[in-house]
Amino acid sequence: MTVQTNRSKKDAPTRLVIHGGAGAMVRGKLTPEREFAFTQLLAQSLTAGHAILTAGGSSIDAVIAAIVVMEDSPLLNAGKGAVFTHTGINELDASIMDGATRMAGAVAAVSTIRNPIRAAHAVMKKSKHVMLIGQGAEAFAAEQGLEIVDPSYFFTQFRWNQLQKAITEDRVLRDHDADPAEPLPGKDKKHGTVGAVALDRYGNLAAGTSTGGYTNKQFGRVGDTPIIGAGTYADNHSIAVSATGSGEMFIRAAAAFNAAAQVRFQQLPIAEAADNTLSEIAAIGGDGGLILLDAKGNYAMRFNTSGMYRGTIGSDGVAHIGLFSGEEVPLT
Ligand code: ASP
Repeated sequence: MTVQTNRSKKDAPTRLVIHGGAGAMVRGKLTPEREFAFTQLLAQSLTAGHAILTAGGSSIDAVIAAIVVMEDSPLLNAGKGAVFTHTGINELDASIMDGATRMAGAVAAVSTIRNPIRAAHAVMKKSKHVMLIGQGAEAFAAEQGLEIVDPSYFFTQFRWNQLQKAITEDRVLRDHDADPAEPLPGKDKKHGTVGAVALDRYGNLAAGTSTGGYTNKQFGRVGDTPIIGAGTYADNHSIAVSATGSGEMFIRAAAAFNAAAQVRFQQLPIAEAADNTLSEIAAIGGDGGLILLDAKGNYAMRFNTSGMYRGTIGSDGVAHIGLFSGEEVPLT
């Protein structure tokens, strides 16, 4: 087997790009307090991943560190902030991929693993498999010494209220939705999910994604997030990608691999590859966003929704963050 690693490179510029979901976020609709809270959370996630990269750590470890910060926050739809299924439980999905070796790991429909991204990584490193689901994944995570929590750990009142509203209106909702007190938007246009792509100083790429899925989803439903090639993909020959959006359509469009294949085989610029993929998804009724990064440090954060929580930080250590459409702004 030939494995493309670039371990001879030692001081290549590093980069981390993250997202906290795409959706119908509109400037002015978010209270200043919530806008501040989301910005702070994205900054913390970037800082955690960047610290690993500057210390000479791997892109995989940077991706995990960035995602764990977002999973541990109740603000985003992953880990602690996960949305509820129709039956009132939290079923979490996550995946991770190493661009140097194309090794990958994923978990789906887990309810007791505090940090599903760590479990996905354990599947990649410690099992013979790529994906474990449900109780099998939970037993494996426990064996690996990962933190197991009571399912009630994932309860938040905000998400519970979202579920009650969704049940009343018979809707299956993506995240970043209107406040439960407000009327729901005309279309199911909000996405949650968190993700990260990173390039380490050895020139290796990695990608990871983690989610609670959709509010009021059928129990047992799995979206694109834990599917390698749909929600997550990384290959040093092309790019690292993490997705958020209408999971069913992202699966049908093989979204993450679709974008990577355009870069690898058509030599398209990454932003163009992302836009083409999002157009294909729009053509089958979906929407969302993609973050993408190549082994030279070129990156893109593209979405066809009104906003996407996103940020990036390079070797210079200056974080740029965006919530709505328009340019990302440097954090001062
Ligand atoms: N893509 C995720 C899923 O289908 C949802 C999202 O990004 O909000 O589970």
